[in-house]
Amino acid sequence: MSAQVLVIDDEESICELITEVCEIDGIEAASSTDSLKVQECLAQHPNIRLIMLDLNMPGKDGIEVLRDLSAMKFSGKLSMMSGFDESVLSTAGELAKELGLKLVNPLKKPFTVKQVFAILRSVNFDEEQSELDTHHTSPVRSNNGELDIATIQRWLENDQVVMHYQPQLLLKNHEVTGLEALVRLIDDKGNTVYPGAFVDLIENHGLTQLLLTKVIDTVCNDYEQHSPYLYNLNLSINVSALDLDRLTFPDELSGRINDSKINANHLTIEITESRAIKQISTGLDILARLRLKGFHLSIDDFGTGEAVLSHIRKMPYNELKIDKSFVDQITTNPRTYSLTRDLIYMAQHLGLHIVAEGIEDQETALELRNMGCDIAQGYYFAKPMPMPDLIKWIQEARYA
Ligand code: C2E
Ligand code: MG
Ligand code: MG
Repeated sequence: MSAQVLVIDDEESICELITEVCEIDGIEAASSTDSLKVQECLAQHPNIRLIMLDLNMPGKDGIEVLRDLSAMKFSGKLSMMSGFDESVLSTAGELAKELGLKLVNPLKKPFTVKQVFAILRSVNFDEEQSELDTHHTSPVRSNNGELDIATIQRWLENDQVVMHYQPQLLLKNHEVTGLEALVRLIDDKGNTVYPGAFVDLIENHGLTQLLLTKVIDTVCNDYEQHSPYLYNLNLSINVSALDLDRLTFPDELSGRINDSKINANHLTIEITESRAIKQISTGLDILARLRLKGFHLSIDDFGTGEAVLSHIRKMPYNELKIDKSFVDQITTNPRTYSLTRDLIYMAQHLGLHIVAEGIEDQETALELRNMGCDIAQGYYFAKPMPMPDLIKWIQEARYA
């Protein structure tokens, strides 16, 4: 069994205490006194379902870690710990919710062992695990229960790759305008493995170029077979910001696209905001050249990163994708509502297209439309699907 609880606290004794309490409950826990290592710990322990996070730490404080967890789309539960007064915990709690993180009760220090037990009991580890299995993990694992990079690399090299395509529609009339290509791997038993289980590992092990090559080859093959149905639709692909480090990237991409049935002027490159920003100085050259070659650029997961506005003005983006963590809350949280409305207003003034992703209900779709958002993507309209299903879906949508 691998660790399901991660304790992050700069005090060694707290880490030890909570780890022991977990053990008594039969739950394996990992811990770190270094808040800079959270991402590394999560990559090492992919089954973490509960993070117990101290807010006051040297290096990176707990609030900064919250942003990282949100950017990584951490889907487990979170319990925050602090020796400060309740108001610090409650403000941090508000922030965590805005960031789309799932909270269980906080621990105000000093705490009792009984309070730690109560938190562990509030997380149903079995249920959480099966949810994780259906969405994001593969049954093929190494001996210690983790999906390892060697397996992922082998799947990629053996072309155990398929793309699913999720439609994007105009909010005003539901006309289909584009598709986002989303990668999936196929394990040795033929099961589909979702990006949440492997994209971070690929990035951490420097294999993004291999992933991108396989993604582009697969998309090009799909287009080879189905291009008559797709010729006027925009196609978005996800590119890791780490690929923006390679000056040859624009030429590699246009070389491959020009040999294919994909129209370069209809190709949008999505780059995740929180990661792109670190690369801004080297990436600007590449982004500018991608635009010169006719590609469009989209800033993905907008709102999950840090220094947002100033960067957008500098970078040659055409499109902004509002992250699901905002979209999810616009009908329930007035602060998220006003923030999203202001974001849309700002993006319009910068001349950017606005795509809202993760729309799951009609009320949210209507609200976004009223706010001036152009394009929608989400399960409410259609889930990502393999190319043959997508073609059927497009034909039905067109003639409905
Ligand atoms: P993303 O680019 O932000 O893609 C949107 C994700 O949200 C997709 O998850 C999609 O299936 C999911 N989604 C869309 N609508 C809804 C909805 O209404 N409800 C919910 N709950 N989810 C929705 P997916 O396919 O698991 O991909 C996750 C992330 O993995 C992507 O986020 C992207 O960052 C990364 N990724 C996917 N394909 C590639 C790829 O080819 N290359 C790279 N580098 N990263 C990729
Ligand atoms: Mg994307
Ligand atoms: Mg996104």
